[in-house]
Amino acid sequence: MHSLHEDLGVPPAVNASGKMTALGGSVLDERVISAMGEAARQHVVMDDLLVAVGREIARATGAEDGCPTTGAASGIAIAVASVIAGTDLSRIEALPDAGDAPREVVLPFGHSVHFGAPIRQMVALGGGRAVEVGSASKVTVAHLEGAIGPDTAALLYVKSHHAVQKGMVSLAETVETGRRHGIPVIVDAAAEEDLRHWPATGADLVVYSGGKAVGGPTSGMICGSAARMAACRAQYGGIARPMKVGKETLFGLVQALRDYGSDRAEASGGQRARMEKLAARLAVLPGITTRVVGDEAGRAIHRTELTVDPAAAGRDAAGLAAELAAVGVHVRDHHAVTGRLMIDPRPLRADEEELLVERLTALFEGAHR
Ligand SMILES: *Cc1c(COP(=O)(O)O)cnc(C)c1O
Repeated sequence: MHSLHEDLGVPPAVNASGKMTALGGSVLDERVISAMGEAARQHVVMDDLLVAVGREIARATGAEDGCPTTGAASGIAIAVASVIAGTDLSRIEALPDAGDAPREVVLPFGHSVHFGAPIRQMVALGGGRAVEVGSASKVTVAHLEGAIGPDTAALLYVKSHHAVQKGMVSLAETVETGRRHGIPVIVDAAAEEDLRHWPATGADLVVYSGGKAVGGPTSGMICGSAARMAACRAQYGGIARPMKVGKETLFGLVQALRDYGSDRAEASGGQRARMEKLAARLAVLPGITTRVVGDEAGRAIHRTELTVDPAAAGRDAAGLAAELAAVGVHVRDHHAVTGRLMIDPRPLRADEEELLVERLTALFEGAHR
């Protein structure tokens, strides 16, 4: 049978790692794929579609309005551009040159993350200049206030497992500080699951990825007040032009947002039971101990953790992850240096879970497939 994967010589990968950009983001539901197909077959007035999708984003997030993007990364760039240029066409068309407009974006040092690219660069792309305050493990309100001045355009807060999880100023403190100084707060909540929580904190612009928790196509969104979202959409006539979102993506994002939600808590309970079973099955492998662990950033995700004893297992955790990747199975290796690998249930189908067990077991029998 004809398969483009085969023609290209790039076989489908088994993803036990999480929502990974490097593995193609989300696998889409048939309803989402069908919505994208519907969009692909007709022309549409794009400006009207952008506004309509903004309303869908508003409904999903509880914010007043929304602005779709190609991803959370472009969402950050567009949010920054919007607070610098607003709807002023001359300023919009001059970006990333901010002229005499305030352009400094203040963020805690422990939030200056690299998610595949540095967040500082996304700020610069939007015409801003990232100003990191405090230290990697300690940032207080006083650090934020020390950096706020006439050139401050926004405060940036990053909610992510990539960020330092302790010693940082809280979002409530950040929002309060922004209010006191009349400066908008931008939140990068790219991979967060509770879409309604972050806008409800009082943050002015909240950025999500559409291809992570939401399970949509490669896409993203910003939400906030109607005025702020109009300013975000206006950037598509400027720096956001090379980040334009296609109609197929917009339809796919809308369908994913409509389908997202209600069954998440249930799904999390089911995933935990699945991971408990998997942990028991893999515990028989030599040099491998297993347990189920919660998400380090507090999301409702339970993963099977494998701790590798190199002497008994015949390879260390990083080595084992590399051997698995070579046979098309990708596990979460963020903690490999500490001897641990994780299996993430979210992207893993039941048949792929079997394939994972089979291929992992085969490595220990020395029988590569
Ligand atoms: C993934 C991620 C991004 C980028 O999201 P895209 O949708 O891939 O552009 C930005 N910030 C954080 C914290 C992320 O985890």
